[in-house]
Amino acid sequence: MKISEIYKNKKRTLSFEIFPPKKDSRLDNIDDTLDVLAELSPDFISVTFGAGGSSNCNRTIELAKKIKYKYGIEPVVHLTCLHYDSAEIEEFARVLNAEGIENVLALRGDKSDKVPEKNVFRHSSDLINFLKPGYDFCFLGACYPECHPESPDRVSELRHLKYKVDAGAEALISQLFFDNDAFFNFNEECKIAGIDVPVIPGVMPVINAAQIKRMISMCNASFPERFQKIIRRYEDNKEALFDAGMSYALSQIIDLLVSDIPGIHLYTMNNPAVARRICEGIKNIV
Ligand code: FAD
Repeated sequence: MKISEIYKNKKRTLSFEIFPPKKDSRLDNIDDTLDVLAELSPDFISVTFGAGGSSNCNRTIELAKKIKYKYGIEPVVHLTCLHYDSAEIEEFARVLNAEGIENVLALRGDKSDKVPEKNVFRHSSDLINFLKPGYDFCFLGACYPECHPESPDRVSELRHLKYKVDAGAEALISQLFFDNDAFFNFNEECKIAGIDVPVIPGVMPVINAAQIKRMISMCNASFPERFQKIIRRYEDNKEALFDAGMSYALSQIIDLLVSDIPGIHLYTMNNPAVARRICEGIKNIV
């Protein structure tokens, strides 16, 4: 079922993001996580797509098929375009279509010094514009409550996001954030900018110090003092940081759920312990 159809009957969705296991490990390694996630009957599970040149892309499709046909849950396949030409994108789309995949998160992909850009698709909206006439996918797009790192300012960010929605993105999934006010403000700005599709907040439970450092270098997310205090206090205590990180994420999720938002998208990092703890914490709320 298309995500746009789900929103016709439901005001709020619960969804998860997973990534395909590395090529040298078994695809079944993800089953423990999927078993836990399936217990909460999510509306969809999205599967990431390796950055350009990654040989793991077929695994994205394999995993999406498993989610759809073994677990009976709707998959959303991420598809990046910056490092592919039209023929390559056409081939991915043909396979997705043949496998009965209906939902595509259309992405540009990150720029990389190691992988040359093909200069065919410059923005995610180019990908949607290219595929929409030939394929009946429901397209979703990414959004950034605290701005994409390449954006000069918030006005340009919102203008470009509106292009994406006008091209055909029927729902948006947000970059992670640790300050809910950043999301609430962004949500209001989207409405003012005439972006009238569901804007789904993405929440990532932070559970280890290495992951936090990676987050700081990769995304624009601000780190509220309340969150920094947790890191300072527990960064050398793995178990305590796990507990505190999960509690922080749960408090973020509950605050979002009691507000007027169209769903929660949880970045699971394929970690069954994370999935289990979050699911346990919200099972009577969603
Ligand atoms: P775009 O929408 O193209 O935006 C990129 C930049 O270009 C922004 O600064 C935007 O303001 C600007 N822009 C957009 N349109 C225009 C225009 N018409 N004119 C001028 N400027 C414009 N990466 C992966 O490799 N694999 C994944 O599976 C993956 N999944 C993700 C899932 C989510 C929910 C999110 C938030 C990100 C994900 N990413 C993934 C990362 C994503 O590829 C990067 O953030 C990338 O840098 C931008 O992708 P985008 O689709 O948002 O790009």
